[in-house]
Amino acid sequence: MAGALLGAGLVGYLWLAMDVVRGERFLRWLRAGTDSDVLLGSGLWGEVSDRVRRLVRARTRLAGQSDERLQDFLAALQASPNGVVLIDEQGRIEWFNQMAASHFGLDARRDLLQHMGNLVRDPGFAAYLAGRDYRGEVTMPGRAHSSSKPVKLSVHLHPYGEGRSLLLSRDITALEQADAMRRDFVANVSHEIRTPLTVLAGFVETLQTLPLDETERHRYLDLMAQQSQRMQTLVSDLLTLSRLEGSPPPPTQDWIAVQTLLNQCQQDGRELSNLLWQSTHDLQFTLDGPCEIAGAANELYSVMFNLVSNAIRYTPAGQRIDVRWQLMPDGSAVFSVQDTGVGIAPEHIARLTERFYRVDRSRSRETGGTGLGLAIVKHVAQRHGAELGIESVPGKGSRFSITFPANRVRAISA
Ligand code: ADP
Repeated sequence: MAGALLGAGLVGYLWLAMDVVRGERFLRWLRAGTDSDVLLGSGLWGEVSDRVRRLVRARTRLAGQSDERLQDFLAALQASPNGVVLIDEQGRIEWFNQMAASHFGLDARRDLLQHMGNLVRDPGFAAYLAGRDYRGEVTMPGRAHSSSKPVKLSVHLHPYGEGRSLLLSRDITALEQADAMRRDFVANVSHEIRTPLTVLAGFVETLQTLPLDETERHRYLDLMAQQSQRMQTLVSDLLTLSRLEGSPPPPTQDWIAVQTLLNQCQQDGRELSNLLWQSTHDLQFTLDGPCEIAGAANELYSVMFNLVSNAIRYTPAGQRIDVRWQLMPDGSAVFSVQDTGVGIAPEHIARLTERFYRVDRSRSRETGGTGLGLAIVKHVAQRHGAELGIESVPGKGSRFSITFPANRVRAISA
């Protein structure tokens, strides 16, 4: 009996000792971080360790997925075309994307956890931050702003969570420039129309109030016709420009004989020369090999005649003007108009294709110019994949050329 009791006590003790050993092993395994394997057999400890291992794996997987989602989210913010800055409760920068870095000149190593207000010193932005009214946005110069190359940003702060905020910045330089161009354009058009209108109104008043003889009446009516003609030309050039802007690219399968275009230019050029100068220029037309060009016939004619008419208008009567069509060895073709007229100073050349830009305003007006001719030329050339070139020497003359690409040019047999 005593032996049996001793035996049972020994077994119980052994069992307890093994349990303590397993428990110890289990604890050590937990402390070591559960990465390694642990042998705890199939009993209670074995099951506990199995369940713990499964739980830990599930948690690790979840944490990994959350981390991936966070990285995806940050990558999306990084890809944003706008600048994004995350700001904490104390107004310090927590995170920003590349775009924000270039907008504000931020550096990830230097500026994280710095106060936004300390880094961006623009007074307008500082007032916006301090004002705490973030319903609207504020505009300010970007980091890369300079007087020769302005950069304008629109910045908007969006509060969220408890005291945190999201700062979004947008580069609005192009928008502002387009807006300024639109305003200038409207002002220019109004001015261009108002001038002949004022003259017309003056003549109408004269005709209404003064007793004029037949000759005088005729003279006034001729002058009035000139002014209304000027307005018509202006409106027609404006319509041409707006049509060019809105229409599909010119066809590549409609072939036009260059000879036909040149003949028309020659005839109209002679007429213009007589009309303007009551004389004629030494107009020379040369076609190097019969050739066809693909595009819109009316646009191509208007480009060629614009250059010919400019040469006539800015070259004194009797002087030479060379109009030439040349096929180049690489298959491209060059249409050029070389005159011996007043020429253009180098500082004006880059601006000649701007709408309403004129070197000599009164000369342009006297000869019926609108200041839109070269803008139309440049536009049509671009639509045909061609390039406009301008060379000029003041007092000696100018050469305007358009180089058409090989895919729009083909030689034909005479
Ligand atoms: P405009 O109707 O005033 O001639 P354009 O756009 O055709 O307008 O030309 C812009 C300006 O470029 C002209 O006002 C003129 O000062 C200058 N220009 C154009 N062609 C010539 C040329 N062949 N010789 C000298 N100046 C020219």
